[in-house]
Amino acid sequence: MRLSKFLAFSVCAALALAAPGVAQRNVEPGQPAHPTARTALPTIIHAGHLMTEPGAQVMVNATLVAMDGKVHSVHEGFRNAAELGLPPDTRLVDLSSKYVLPGFMDLHVHITSGGIAARGSSLRMQQEDAFFALNGYTNALATLMAGFTTIRDLGAPNAAIFSLRDAIKYGVVPGPNIIAAGEGISPTNGHGDSHGLRRAFLDAESHDNVCDGADDCRRATRAAIKYGADVIKVHVTGGVLDPSDAGTEQQFTDEELRAIVEAGHSMGRRVTTHAHGKGGIDAAVRAGYDSIEHAMWADEESLRLMRQHGTYLIPTVWPITWVGDTPEKVLRGPMRDINPVSLGKLLRLGDQPKRLVRMAIRIGTPIALGTDSGISPHGTNAQEMVEYVEAGMTPVEALRTATVNAADAAGLQDRGKLAPGMAADIIALDGDPTADINAVSSVSFVMRDGIVFKRDGAEVKE
Ligand SMILES: [Zn+2]
Repeated sequence: MRLSKFLAFSVCAALALAAPGVAQRNVEPGQPAHPTARTALPTIIHAGHLMTEPGAQVMVNATLVAMDGKVHSVHEGFRNAAELGLPPDTRLVDLSSKYVLPGFMDLHVHITSGGIAARGSSLRMQQEDAFFALNGYTNALATLMAGFTTIRDLGAPNAAIFSLRDAIKYGVVPGPNIIAAGEGISPTNGHGDSHGLRRAFLDAESHDNVCDGADDCRRATRAAIKYGADVIKVHVTGGVLDPSDAGTEQQFTDEELRAIVEAGHSMGRRVTTHAHGKGGIDAAVRAGYDSIEHAMWADEESLRLMRQHGTYLIPTVWPITWVGDTPEKVLRGPMRDINPVSLGKLLRLGDQPKRLVRMAIRIGTPIALGTDSGISPHGTNAQEMVEYVEAGMTPVEALRTATVNAADAAGLQDRGKLAPGMAADIIALDGDPTADINAVSSVSFVMRDGIVFKRDGAEVKE
């Protein structure tokens, strides 16, 4: 027992030495490089327009230097290596015709779902978690290529998502920085429990994440952290796409909600909750949750309460547009064949998410970007910003939801803007997003933690 713990520690210590941004081509001259080695080379970027933080003064013709995975310095005008005191062969990336800004973040995705493993598929019954990790890798790459350098996964099999997160972190596969919740905390028969299967299958599923009563919910929250959760995802109300006919109102009690948030915060985790019904939203805000996902049936009073508590709204509008925001569109759309109970809940939703965001913008509730991608296709995440502008935000406000606001909501102090010491998460767009928000989909360059993954509009495979 002692020995195995020691060995596990040694392995962790060794992996820690190979952390992102410091991966090296650790080979003798003449030896082939490790095939997955990607390095955060010192890089000089010439930016035609540099938006260090959406809302700050845009710099025209600026130079950014990235070193060791971080932003090192920012300068007016185009400076060359000699002027910067760097070796003459320092990598130069010419983005002098582009709009350069911090990498986007999406705080609500399901990266192992979607694509071939879309909801309703029988694959969940047939495939091991490793299949979903590989599916997640494909989805994560599509998301990174779309300019999203950080994603927060709020619901996936533990073994699949934590392995994928770590494989990206150690440079085994390319992908965005992942903040992962794992399976999410749910009451028995809640949105995060298993449904709609025969008893033998239901009983065979892991129930570590399911809890009833305050003590049991403290256990489930601490267990989630022990098994790898970076963030605690809670299901305070029922959900739309599960086949339970138990509604979308508050299901965890106030006492259970408090036990979860205290346990999560005491171990340094942000705590966020899926919530549809107003009762559940208000209860979570009062219990001190950091953010509310969806909040579909929040009213003005709920949104004011969120503003007062500084609780972020993560609205997930784009997947509803994709599924259909009127009954007619839903019945023609990609989810028309879902089980009848979920279909009923979906038809009731209509364009409520759009009305919700319009209300939240008017009231001034803080908003961070989330898409629930996995419902809508991975890699289309930026459409959420287009939705926010259609609902009344300025383009700069929409860009903030995906950068500084998302970093603040997720507690990521070193991401979301470009300044010395911040992570070198940098993207370039072909067009000016402040003139036309649709430019957020024209991503031609992606750097994460100082490593270039996309250049001249194509994936870099160096
Ligand atoms: Zn979700």
